[in-house]
This record gives sequence, structure tokens and C-alpha cells, in this order.
Amino acid sequence: HGKRAYNFNAGPAAMPLSALQKAQAELLDFNGTGMSIMEHSHRGKDYEAVHNQAIALLKELMAIPENYEVLFVQGGASLQFAMVPMNFLPAGKQAGYVMTGAWSEKAFAEAEKLGAAYIAATAKEGNYRRIPALKEIKAQQDTAYLHITSNNTIFGTEWHAFPDTGEIPLIADMSSDILSHPFDVSKFALIYAGAQKNLGPSGVTVVIIRREFLEQANKNLPAMLKYATFAKDNSLYNTPPTFSIYMVKLMLEWVKEQGGVTAIHRRNQEKAALLYEVIDASNGFYVGHAQPEARSLMNVTFRLADEALEKKFLEEVKKEGFVGLNGHRSVGGCRASMYNAVPYEACKALRDKMLAFQKENA
Ligand code: PMP
Repeated sequence: HGKRAYNFNAGPAAMPLSALQKAQAELLDFNGTGMSIMEHSHRGKDYEAVHNQAIALLKELMAIPENYEVLFVQGGASLQFAMVPMNFLPAGKQAGYVMTGAWSEKAFAEAEKLGAAYIAATAKEGNYRRIPALKEIKAQQDTAYLHITSNNTIFGTEWHAFPDTGEIPLIADMSSDILSHPFDVSKFALIYAGAQKNLGPSGVTVVIIRREFLEQANKNLPAMLKYATFAKDNSLYNTPPTFSIYMVKLMLEWVKEQGGVTAIHRRNQEKAALLYEVIDASNGFYVGHAQPEARSLMNVTFRLADEALEKKFLEEVKKEGFVGLNGHRSVGGCRASMYNAVPYEACKALRDKMLAFQKENA
């Protein structure tokens, strides 16, 4: 695999080689302007074109309806944990959270500081191995919105069907699976995602918001904490993270070249199947963390039944050029993050390594 690592990092994560090469080729002279895109004014036409292309590409690839805005915000998904309740949790209402992992817990904790929040369903028992069944979700009276985490980066679980919340606005943290599979955006009032997995580098967070929902937002907030500020000025109220957004544009162009989200989804299913098949056929040598029906296509979490062998496995793969396979410190074990830009060949190499390691050590 040449000099490129087999990168299974959870985020920031692998990016498409062609997008990196394009950035490299354009680094010193963007579009014949004699300077890098980083050195352009965010008010100039060269940057503005990049900015608008990124928005247009995301709208096209995700089939985002006309009545939605695409915003570029800073502060990561972690700031969204606070911005969502600041904007949409008024006094006298409460927000429902479905707890499917550590990121749901963090989102819930921020909402509790800012208003009334309750747990509408939880999968905490057994350390977040599953996604609650839709009928388990109990919305209470005066619910301002229901919040879900569509993919649980640390535990390796993913929603495969979204709840129908009727009149209650549905909000999702899609940081770790946005753009990995097609879905109906119109089910959601608001979607947010830190870019550093499937969209680009860190430094920018994408927010997709329904305009009618935005109109209900709290108006009495600092400018930079209001979605309306970003919507009103096309995310150019202040200086946006221009280079990050430029990289998002290059990555979206790559997704389009790959055949769009449907083709990417098919590839993601094939990539994930490589590892899940090894786990399932290993006679307990490898033990998956997620229940099979909740398995994520993005983050494959597993342990080795024997702890000493687990350590040996992680040491060996590291030596052989695989990066990022240690599980998150809160769950341990192994985690292979296989976002859109992780090549099939890297997943196949890992599959082969897992098979060989079992053969040698079982
Ligand atoms: N939500 C999810 C699902 C995540 O995976 C992460 C980061 N790994 C976050 C939120 C936090 O994102 P950020 O670091 O951009 O604040």
C-alpha cells in the first residue's frame, strides 16, 4: 500500500487520496490566483465559489429538500450539544434524548444545563450494545424536540431505521455516519455533523436545518450561538474555516465521482461485511460488541476473547502499518473505523490479518 497507511482512525480520519492530491496541486496557486485558497479573503469571489459549491454538492448528494438550509459552524459537534437546546428548548417545554452512547450522554448533559430534558429511551444496560426499538421511545408532554445519535462512534452501533416522531421535531447527531447511506432528510428538523469523519477535516461542523423550524428559534442569544446568524449570511457572518470548507468541497466531489451516496453505501456494506464475517465465523475468538442488528457500518467494535492475545493483536497490527485500531479508552478492545474514504483494500488487508492472526494463535 505504498506510503499511505491503513488508516482506521475514528476521527479525524482517512481522506480520499485524490482529494488530498488536488489540494496539494492547488496549494500554492489556487485557480491561477498566485496564492493558496487559505490566503484568499472569505469575501472574495474565489473563496465564495468554493463555499457555495460545497453547499450545493451536499444538497445534491443528500437530496436535501428546498426548505432546508446548509450551514457551516465551528465548535465541533460538541458545541451543537449546547446550541441545539439554546435555540430550541424554551422554558415550559422539555427535550427528549435517546441514549445510545457516550455522545448521547454528552448531548443530554448540555441540554440539562440549559432547560428541562428527559431520557426518552436508553440502551445503556450492557454498555450500549443495541439501539432501542422504535416502540421503546416514550415521548412526554410538551416535547420541544427528540434527539438521537445516528451512529455511535465509540460503541459501534447505528440506527438502521429512524423513528417517526410525528409533530415532534427530530434532531440527529450524524457526526459519524452522515453521507454513508441514503436517507430521507425531510424526517429531520435539524441534523448536525462534525466534518472530520465523512465530510472532510476537523474545524467545521455541518448543520442542516428546516427553515420553518429555524423560525421558532430563541432570538435572544449571542450572534455566534444563533443558527439564524449563519442562515442569514450564508455562513459568512464572520470568517468561516475556509480551508476546512475547501477540503469538504474536494471530498464531496470525490463522493460524487464514486457514484454518490448509494454507491458509497454499497461499498460501505461490503467493507463492513469483511470484518463482521470474520468475527461471526471465529468461534468466539473475536467477539463483537454490538448486537448484530445494531451493527454500525462505520465503526466495527470487537474484542479478543483472550486479553493477552488482544494486546498481542494490537501490537502486531500496529507494527504492520495499521493505524487507529485500539478501541476507545471507555470500552477498550479494538475498533476499526471504516468511513467512506477508507479503501476497500485496507479493509481487506485487515480482514486477512485477522484471519491469519486467529490461525496462528487460536
Ligand atoms: N458526536 C459523535 C457521534 C462523535 O463521534 C463525536 C466525535 N468523535 C462528537 C459528537 C464530538 O465531536 P467534536 O469533537 O467535533 O466536538
